[in-house]
Amino acid sequence: AAAFSQAFIDMPRPERPLNVAVIGAGLAGLSCAKYLSDAGHKPIVLEARDVLGGKVSAWQDKDGDWVETGLHIFFGAYPNVNQMFTELGIRDRLQWKSHSMIFAMPGQQTADGFQRFSRFEFPALLPAPLNGLVAILLNNEMLTFPEKIQFGIGLLPAILFGQKYVEECDSLTVSEWMKKQGVPDRVNDEVFIAMAKALNFIDPENLSMTVVLTALNRFLQETHGSKMAFLDGPPPTRLCQPMADYMLERGGELRMEQRISSILLNDDKTVKGLKMQDGSTVVADAYVSTMPVDILKLMLPQEWKPMPYFEKLNGLNGVPVINIHMWFDRKLTTVDHLLFSRSPLLSVYADMSLTCKGYRDDEKSMLELVFAPAKDWIGKPDEAIIEATMAELYRLFPNELNKDGSGAQLLKSAVVKTPLSVYEATAGRELYRPVQTSPISNFFLAGCFTKQKYLASMEGATFSGKLAARALSDAAIADTIPLKKAASAVAA
Ligand code: FAD
Repeated sequence: AAAFSQAFIDMPRPERPLNVAVIGAGLAGLSCAKYLSDAGHKPIVLEARDVLGGKVSAWQDKDGDWVETGLHIFFGAYPNVNQMFTELGIRDRLQWKSHSMIFAMPGQQTADGFQRFSRFEFPALLPAPLNGLVAILLNNEMLTFPEKIQFGIGLLPAILFGQKYVEECDSLTVSEWMKKQGVPDRVNDEVFIAMAKALNFIDPENLSMTVVLTALNRFLQETHGSKMAFLDGPPPTRLCQPMADYMLERGGELRMEQRISSILLNDDKTVKGLKMQDGSTVVADAYVSTMPVDILKLMLPQEWKPMPYFEKLNGLNGVPVINIHMWFDRKLTTVDHLLFSRSPLLSVYADMSLTCKGYRDDEKSMLELVFAPAKDWIGKPDEAIIEATMAELYRLFPNELNKDGSGAQLLKSAVVKTPLSVYEATAGRELYRPVQTSPISNFFLAGCFTKQKYLASMEGATFSGKLAARALSDAAIADTIPLKKAASAVAA
């Protein structure tokens, strides 16, 4: 990742920097803009909303408390994101947790009545894959020894045949793969329901096995791959703003509340300009869309729709997910880590008053919880969602929360619904993911749904932005982008 970044700085300086309209100020858009400015071009980032970050955006409620679009975890196996933090000089904002994976054991309590957790501990002194294997072998609460052996045997083809096998498994769901490999159902129920919900907010009956194998591969190949970090505060201010500042300091532009309403074409189907919702037009030398795939599909010009590259976007659809914040009047847990809930409605959760320096509170808990799968809940009122979540929390915190109201009190809550979030990674989706270079010479795509090996994630988004910036810079050097005559071609 460091060498890839350096390549932008080492590229021959363009004779004339290109004006590049980057649509969207999520991680893909901001990453693309950063690397375009490193390559000597001028990004103009157009963001529809009044907040940076897209799916990592956050805002303050009337009390000044932060509400986030999603609970976000950074992994050791995120080379481009970690490199971005280094390049921005903000590495200290990543708060790394102990190298463990912690699963709740719903319905099981410790001798003194507290929720029981089962831990996979990765020994610090062992390299990958030994640290992962020891972590799995030493945990006997979730899987029996024979079940682990059967799962290990099932994984052999992935170990022997590598990436090719991982990609071939996209035709199977996690559940189908487990059956085919003779892995006992209990492995699926104990571990993979929680993992599938955390990876893509859906169940293993729907998730592509490629997604799970890709994550497992990274975790087993990289010693710190499965190590997790929380950002030390809200992503828009702690991560996105430094990304924006970086390109602004190098001549880039950021225009907030600038929603594009359509893409205007020349006769040769190249992009002529962007029609904005306020009626103005933005004209640039080249264009990068980082809009989520569902919005992009609505925005495609008629002339592009029959092209196979754009037509296959129809195979990708956003998955619904709900992020919940609950503020309690006292501490519910002392675990400073991500927790896999293993409950029917919830995916992962964390007590952000412990895990995140910026939200620290020594007296009270603020739980952030991912509610998934959310298909049947996304249309329901917030009150119903909170009520259902409380029902699950009574089981997760049997000692701290009491139905009779004598335990911790819920002070307030916030429900953030994202009806179309990252693309739903059901079996067979890999075929539909577009590469960053489109058949249109001055139009490029980025966003976590575009083709790259890090799935729909912050790493995937950041890397896709970098790949699009590279493709565009290379095209500029190869002179394949039809340039506008004047250097000051961008008009609002
Ligand atoms: P987006 O963030 O969607 O950015 C697209 C931008 O385009 C937005 O800012 C949008 O406002 C803008 N836009 C849209 N239409 C227009 C228009 N017409 N004109 C101008 N601008 C427009 N990933 C992880 O790695 N770890 C996690 O723990 C994790 N947890 C998550 C939890 C939740 C609840 C959610 C929803 C996501 C989570 N993710 C996680 C996924 C991660 O957030 C995304 O993969 C990533 O942020 C996507 O970035 P992006 O830039 O591709 O898209």
